[in-house]
Amino acid sequence: MSDAEPSIFTRIINGEIPCYKLYEDEHVFAFLDINPFSLGHTLVVPKEQAATLDTLSDESSAAIGRVLPRISRAILAVTGAVDFNILQNNGEAAFQSVFHVHFHIIPKLEDGSGLAWPFATKQLDPEVGAQLAETISAAIE
Ligand code: 5GP
Repeated sequence: MSDAEPSIFTRIINGEIPCYKLYEDEHVFAFLDINPFSLGHTLVVPKEQAATLDTLSDESSAAIGRVLPRISRAILAVTGAVDFNILQNNGEAAFQSVFHVHFHIIPKLEDGSGLAWPFATKQLDPEVGAQLAETISAAIE
C-alpha cells in the first residue's frame, strides 16, 4: 500500500468504517479486533499511518507507550483476565496483514482463549548472541 492511500485503520480512525471504539487521543486510537483471539482483544493504533514499527515517529511511539498499560488495565478489569499478551507484527512473513502499525492486546481468559503457545524458538548460540548484541547496540540511534 502506498503511504498516500488510506489504510483500513486510517479509514476506521476517520469514521468511514465502523468499529467498537475504546479510546482516542491526539495520537492514538484503540478499538476491538473484528476477529478476536479472545473477548477483549484490542488493537491500539497510531493515527500516524506508518506501515511498520521501525518507521513510526518517536512522537507516535511515545504516545502509544503511554497508553498501552492503561488500556490493558481496563481490558483486564472488564474481562477478569489476569494474564495477557501484547502482539505486534511487522511484515507479511511475520504475520502482519494490515500495513498500519498496531499493537494487539490479547487477554488470556479462563476458558483458555487468547494467544496460543508454544511459539517456535531455538536456543541462542553464545557466540552469535555476543556478536549480535555488539552490532545491534551499535546500530541503535
Ligand atoms: P496483523 O495480522 O496485521 O497483526 O493483525 C491485523 C488485525 O486486524 C487482525 O487481528 C484482524 O482481525 C484485524 N482487522 C482487520 N480488519 C479489521 C477491521 O476492519 N476492523 C477491525 N476491528 N479489525 C480488523
